Amino acid sequence: MLDTLRRLIQEVNVARNLEQALAIIVERVKQIINADVCSVYLADVSNEQYVLMATNGLLPQAVGQVRLNRNEGLIGLVARRAEQVNLDDAPAHAHYRYFPDTGEEKFHAFLGVPIIHHRNVVGVLVVQRKQRSHFDEDSETLLITVAAQLAGAIAHAEASGGISGIDDSMQAIDGHRSLLGQPGAPGVIIGTARVMYPYADIHAIPDRQVDNVTAELIAFDQAVNSVKKDIAAMAERLHDVLPPEEHALFDVYTLMLESNSFTGVTRNRIEAGNWAPGALRQTIEEHEHVFNQMEDNYLRERVEDIRDLGRRIFSYLQDKAQAEPHFYDRTVVVAEEVTAPMLAEVPPDKLVGVVSVRGSRTSHVAILARALGVPAVMGVADLPVGGLDGVELIADGYSGRVFVAPNDLIRQEFERLTSDEKALTDELQGLKGLPSVTPDGEHIALYANTGLLSDLAPTLASGAEGIGLYRTEFPFMIRQRFPGEDEQCNIYRSVLEALAPRPVILRTLDIGGDKSLPYFPIKEDNPFLGWRGIRISLDHPEIFLVQIRAMMRASVGLDNLNIMLPMISDVAELHDSLALIHQAYGELLEDGLELTMPRVGVMIEVPSAVYQAGSLARRVDFLSIGTNDLTQYLLAVDRNNARVAELYDSLHPSVIRAMLQVVDSARVHSKPVSVCGEMAGDPAAAILLLGMGIDSLSMSVSSLVRVKWVIRNITRDLAAEILSEVLVMEDVHTIRSFLNDTLEKAGMGGLVRAGK
Ligand code: PEP
Ligand code: MG
Repeated sequence: MLDTLRRLIQEVNVARNLEQALAIIVERVKQIINADVCSVYLADVSNEQYVLMATNGLLPQAVGQVRLNRNEGLIGLVARRAEQVNLDDAPAHAHYRYFPDTGEEKFHAFLGVPIIHHRNVVGVLVVQRKQRSHFDEDSETLLITVAAQLAGAIAHAEASGGISGIDDSMQAIDGHRSLLGQPGAPGVIIGTARVMYPYADIHAIPDRQVDNVTAELIAFDQAVNSVKKDIAAMAERLHDVLPPEEHALFDVYTLMLESNSFTGVTRNRIEAGNWAPGALRQTIEEHEHVFNQMEDNYLRERVEDIRDLGRRIFSYLQDKAQAEPHFYDRTVVVAEEVTAPMLAEVPPDKLVGVVSVRGSRTSHVAILARALGVPAVMGVADLPVGGLDGVELIADGYSGRVFVAPNDLIRQEFERLTSDEKALTDELQGLKGLPSVTPDGEHIALYANTGLLSDLAPTLASGAEGIGLYRTEFPFMIRQRFPGEDEQCNIYRSVLEALAPRPVILRTLDIGGDKSLPYFPIKEDNPFLGWRGIRISLDHPEIFLVQIRAMMRASVGLDNLNIMLPMISDVAELHDSLALIHQAYGELLEDGLELTMPRVGVMIEVPSAVYQAGSLARRVDFLSIGTNDLTQYLLAVDRNNARVAELYDSLHPSVIRAMLQVVDSARVHSKPVSVCGEMAGDPAAAILLLGMGIDSLSMSVSSLVRVKWVIRNITRDLAAEILSEVLVMEDVHTIRSFLNDTLEKAGMGGLVRAGK
């Protein structure tokens, strides 16, 4: 049973559009349940109706024609109750509504279950039988399981239908082309999607239209020939080792490579305009579909041979594709999971936006996008990535929406938004050179978050008073090995020198969690609770000491270095880290370097550090609250998980209270506190941070002038009053709208969009 279900879901997941996905569902479910009819009705959002979208058993001409209002018929009943309806004689039921087009008068037994996605009934899955009898409990549970599993796949395929041109009868439900994700980096852009993918994953390869079909065919033939040669060489090598019957496997591979059903159909697909990797993926998926239907396990597993051949050909094709990367003038990087190296592949002048199926506002790619000043939308779970290459997109990094192939109306609306946005930005540019001081004379230092050398010029131009968080892992992430001491020293020197005499806070390596290094893989079930940040540094003092020495050497003569430790969760970790830092300092002094001891601080980003903030503050020079992780750990909401992203908000009352506690503890020891998580760059949140008495804020350069506008317009007293009002509020939505109202009233309504 589980196996049957798994196979069905696999098939649906690789369907290229809604029509294909639904056809598979109705055919297979009808078979599995042994029903006479299986149909799917989907919600037509614009008309508030359920439309028959696919059927196996009713008359095909009814598809697209049969429509029921939300309260109408048995379908309406299932949808309204959001639970199954199981009847032995449907026509006898008071809600039954007969549609002559369907030919359904002969069917009596009826079982309908809702298809629910993100709490909404997006459709109804129905099976029917001729005889008058209830569907048994097994059928009921099976249908419920299928519907639950398929909800996401249907939503996904529905979204793809919107762009891959399903027939007219299907267009009716495609009134909503915007897909919802999470705001990742602010801004709105129009650009062309370039779908990127991890090289090992065949299914992630997008379709891509090519102009030069001949060149593509030649590349494909060359790749196939190279694989043939490799297989011949393998066969030769194993000739004496393998018994003849096993040796015959190589002949099978070679035959497959010469067959029409593999190579021939792929060539046809290329001739039809797809690029070779996309055509090859389609052929492999077609084979997977056929093999998946086979009952025999041995035969079913043979599909792995086809995948293997596919991977081999693909790897030759990929070498060519990598040698000739092509990007649009306004490229939006799109992927299941956009990674830092993917962004690094695109020439900076061509990159205009980022759209990722996975991840959220605090994923490191979103942070990187903010550093690069390009809008990002994260966690667009229903994005039909495979069909998006070359398609025009609007990415709205404020609301977290993506519009695929926007029509003129939407495009005009967004052009207006973009120009409003530009007008506000231009207006605020005048603040760059002005001090970050409240109307009652409090100075709140504004620093920049960065991790890229290319970001130094914008940082300097932004009027930032220093760097409040330099994420050292970025230079580690884009290399093939750990950078050496000299290499690191050069990087840190450029940063310290560019900013001097302004302070720079270099954070020690914070890998693990969602930041892995290609050459230092960490595989864990719970990476955010595992080997991460300071825990790795302490377990590998050789890596930590090299980094600390590089930082200190880079600071000679500048004296603007501050070192910050990530993920400290207890005093012992701080104690051990300080011991290593002093060891490195002593060694460098012995080497004769003229060094001043840098200031050392810790990040408060896990709940245990909140409760020990006093003990930590006593031992260091400053505290910096990392609200990205603190929110994730305090609320138990994975910062990268789009499914729970709605629950992730740093304005949650618990986060605010935890931060207050940190500020109070630091005060006892007269140590300054800053905030360097994304919350610091949120103008609404900045009011509260000001009210708490935070000393400095560190944020993406793109947020600086907006936050400065808030600081220059709200007195600390008023901010403290607002904070005390917020402290009696019990939920995050009330807090957010109260703060937005406050911004509006203070004449800063233009900033409201920039919040979460
Ligand atoms: C944080 O956790 O708030 C933070 C600034 O660190 P990072 O986002 O790099 O984990
Ligand atoms: Mg962190």
